[in-house]
Amino acid sequence: MPADFTKRRYLIRFDDICPTMNWAAWGAIEVELVSHSVRPLLAVVPDNRDPKLVVDAPRADFWERVRSWQQAGYAIALHGYQHRYVNDNAGLMRLNHRSEFAGLPRNEQETKLKRGLAIFAEHGVHANAWIAPAHSFDATTVALLADLGVSVISDGLSHWPFTDARGVTWIPQQLWDFSPRPAGIWTVCCHHNDWSARKIEDFARNLETYAPEITDMATVVRTFGGRRATLTDRWTAFRDWTWNHYLIPARIRARRMVNASRLSGRVHS
Ligand SMILES: [Zn+2]
Repeated sequence: MPADFTKRRYLIRFDDICPTMNWAAWGAIEVELVSHSVRPLLAVVPDNRDPKLVVDAPRADFWERVRSWQQAGYAIALHGYQHRYVNDNAGLMRLNHRSEFAGLPRNEQETKLKRGLAIFAEHGVHANAWIAPAHSFDATTVALLADLGVSVISDGLSHWPFTDARGVTWIPQQLWDFSPRPAGIWTVCCHHNDWSARKIEDFARNLETYAPEITDMATVVRTFGGRRATLTDRWTAFRDWTWNHYLIPARIRARRMVNASRLSGRVHS
């Protein structure tokens, strides 16, 4: 199927999939995914050591489930190694100042990636993609992933996927909730560990609305793999980063300062 640049498509991604995740919420979410034939991208932590991801008792059949999701056409991504942040490096994406990988020497990164992939292999799971904890990874991580055969990265703010010189395909991830967008491939990143019943209802309603426009990772890679990044891709990613992570926070800070000075003026007058 040739790439169609006049349409928008959504890809659904769930992060922090591990044996101790919020299973009650996941059960309800999975019912919705199945009923709308949605095949999401799941970010699986190979050996979770992050206490924030301990919500429910560990499920003994976790890896069996991961295998069955993969067989059902869900894309399974390597989500770091232990989801343990070791520094405040924001990496290439500059979204969060914490990392399990960015800024670390090549040999340390390589050890973590190989251990993570070995755990996947031990359980009969293949890494279809890479999803960095806190979006933080660097050029060394990308080079290692290419060498280790992980050739898809879910990250970045461009509107269309592209394949870089190393043969790694970048599928952008720009949204944290559904919203109407122009033509592009829009990945909606969900963190269900803290989802309430109401949030699950919202998700179900959104699936109802957006289902005809939801795609899966394999289709995106098949359709856009090999496409080279254009200047427009780089410009939209830069513009959207600046807007979301510089201009909006600066405006919020300015508004807070104005409010604070008004408040102190009131106190002193
Ligand atoms: Zn995570």
